[in-house]
Amino acid sequence: MDGLQFEIQTIDMDPTVILISELNDFVFCPKSVYLHHIYARFDQSLYHETFQTEGKIAHETIDRWTYSTKKRWIKGLSVYCRKYGLMGKIDLYDQERKILVERKNLIRKLYDGQYLQVYAQYFALREMGYEVGAIKIHSLKDNKNYDIPLPLGMEKIRFESRIERIRAFRFGDFFTQNPKKCARCIYSELCDTAISQSK
Ligand code: SF4
Repeated sequence: MDGLQFEIQTIDMDPTVILISELNDFVFCPKSVYLHHIYARFDQSLYHETFQTEGKIAHETIDRWTYSTKKRWIKGLSVYCRKYGLMGKIDLYDQERKILVERKNLIRKLYDGQYLQVYAQYFALREMGYEVGAIKIHSLKDNKNYDIPLPLGMEKIRFESRIERIRAFRFGDFFTQNPKKCARCIYSELCDTAISQSK
C-alpha cells in the first residue's frame, strides 16, 4: 500500500462505496481513516483510549441485557444506499415508533460527523423501505437523548455536498490538522503528522 494514496473504502468492495462508519472519522480527520485501516488487524487495546473501550463495553452490555429482549427494536441492521453509494450498519431502529437511534458512550457536544453518520443511515433505511419519523442520538453514560432534525431541504443539500467532497478526496491531497484534534486522537502515538506537530 502506498502511503496516503489509500482511499476510504476497503480493497475488495465496490471502490465507489463509502462506509457509513467512516464518515464521522473522516470529518474528524481524513488521515485517521487511513490509520484505522492499517491498525484494524491489531489488538485494539494497542491504541484504543479508555473512553473508547468503555463505550464498546457499554454497547455490548446494553445489547445483551436490554435490547435483545424487545422485539420492537431492530439492532445492528446492515444497510445500503444505492443513491449515495453508502453502506454500513444502523445501531437501533424502533419499529413501533419509527425512530432511528444511534448510541454514543458520552455526548458532550454534537459534531458534524455524527450528523453525517445518522443522515447516511436515514437515507439507507428509507431506500430499503423503512419509515423514519425521527432520529435520536443517545448518550449512554448520562442517559440523555438528542433530537436530530430530519435531513430535509437545506440539510439534505448540505449532506449531498459533504458526501461529494468526501468521495472526491484522495489521501495525497494536502490537508492541515488542528493540533487540538491530534491531542485527543487515538492514533496520535502512531501518526507522523501528530509527531511532527509536537516537535
Ligand atoms: S494524530 Fe492528528 S493528523 Fe494524525 S490521524 Fe489523528 S487527528 Fe489526524
